[in-house]
Amino acid sequence: MEESSSTSTQKVVAVVGGGLVGALNACFLAKRGFSVEVFEAREDIRKAQIVKGRSINLALSHRGRQALKHVGMEEKIVSQGIPMHARMIHSLGGKQSPIPYGKKGQYILSVDRANLNKELLSEAEKYSNMKLNFDHKLKDWSAETGLMTFDRSDGSKQQIRADLIVGCDGAFSAIRKQFLRCGRFDYSQTYIPHGYMELTMPPVNGEFAMKPNYLHIWPRNTFMMIALPNLDKTFTCTLFMPFEEFEKITTGDEVIEFFQKQFPDSIPLIGVDALKRDYFRLPGQAMVSVKCCPYHIGDKCVLMGDAAHAVVPFYGQGMNAGFEDCIVFDEIMDQFSEDFSVVLPEYSRVRVPDDHAIADLAMYNYIEMRAHVNSKWFLFRKHVDNFLHFVMPKTIIPLYTMVTFTRTRYHEAVKRWHWQNKVINCGLLFSVTGGVLGASYVLIKNPPSVNKLITPAEEMWNRLTAVRTP
Ligand code: FAD
Repeated sequence: MEESSSTSTQKVVAVVGGGLVGALNACFLAKRGFSVEVFEAREDIRKAQIVKGRSINLALSHRGRQALKHVGMEEKIVSQGIPMHARMIHSLGGKQSPIPYGKKGQYILSVDRANLNKELLSEAEKYSNMKLNFDHKLKDWSAETGLMTFDRSDGSKQQIRADLIVGCDGAFSAIRKQFLRCGRFDYSQTYIPHGYMELTMPPVNGEFAMKPNYLHIWPRNTFMMIALPNLDKTFTCTLFMPFEEFEKITTGDEVIEFFQKQFPDSIPLIGVDALKRDYFRLPGQAMVSVKCCPYHIGDKCVLMGDAAHAVVPFYGQGMNAGFEDCIVFDEIMDQFSEDFSVVLPEYSRVRVPDDHAIADLAMYNYIEMRAHVNSKWFLFRKHVDNFLHFVMPKTIIPLYTMVTFTRTRYHEAVKRWHWQNKVINCGLLFSVTGGVLGASYVLIKNPPSVNKLITPAEEMWNRLTAVRTP
């Protein structure tokens, strides 16, 4: 077994996991001047033929952009993304109705996951105090000594010691497993009953098959399909459905029958043959929500990104929250002069309530996206919220705006949302009650003459049957 460690006086920070959050975090830490080493289980995705991973594209919004800006990457990534200004709701009959995400000019971006990861790794590599180690799968580590053991694909093992270990190794984190052995560590995970499956909608005559600057949604109450645009003019459609529904469909004809019933307008766009083939390429993929607390052990180790808080993907915030973790950690490092013994507990104290809040919001949006968007009351309230935001931009801010277009702390956004809901619902109740009382008052004060209450038909009858007096 080979052991290596730095000989310089520079503190060594090991980032375990070179995915989206790990690669970005490595840039933040290298920028501070630490000697940074990234350990990634997979081979270098920039050289790999096939990149296995989760969704093909994802929605980048304000929090993620702010983190990218911090390491000078915002412009580059934004220029490679496709703006989505609104949701486009597809009804069963094929009618399309947009629901804007925010004010004019506000949008989220569809970005390619693999490309973003590659760009972040290449950026990290530019720092002279950075070393990227691929094909290093963390097997074990010690919270006391900071000694980590990695498995290599050739069967060898490597041991490395670090002053600080940053666990960015995703929802099934090997780093987090050690936390479970420590006392006073809270942990919960929930698999939702839905799985997801990705299908490709190819271009038509070299152009997007649907309007590109939208996140298309086919909400069907208990399940839904969404589609995000890609730079190559394809759309990636993601079908979210309970596992038992996925399993009920066993033949190509049944796939078409199901799509004919639920998403008829998408069939000619995805293509009958492609649908029959691609539906069976992979089974539905599971989605897990993980909450834990605290995010650190002593002054040695800290969790970030999905390793700390995997959330279901319905608010489009998993990566954005993970990117924001990096900014928050960086801000606290400034505040406490990089003293890990103070920075790590403070990071847990500050960040846990926010990450738990976004985990809960993502679960809430799981229902909003597939069911509430079909409701007239929901659409009415969206209009009321947007109108009030327009009139009083500082007092009433829609929840989606706070989460997606600001850096308002997630848990504060939730608190404010509850308060706004109370105020708006009370306001609506008062308006309706006031309207009814007002109308009653006017009627009482100015009772209409009996004649005005008589319809023309009644008048005619009265005339015909009237007793004539001489
Ligand atoms: P990961 O991306 O999982 O990266 C973890 C890395 O660690 C991987 O490279 C892995 O190989 C490596 N690793 C694992 N174990 C080890 C080990 N033992 N040793 C060394 N390395 C290891 N978020 C958004 O913000 N917007 C969206 O629109 C969005 N859409 C999504 C759609 C779907 C269908 C899904 C499933 C998720 C979506 N997300 C979205 C969430 C987003 O994908 C995650 O939050 C994000 O990938 C988290 O990044 P991460 O780096 O923490 O973890």
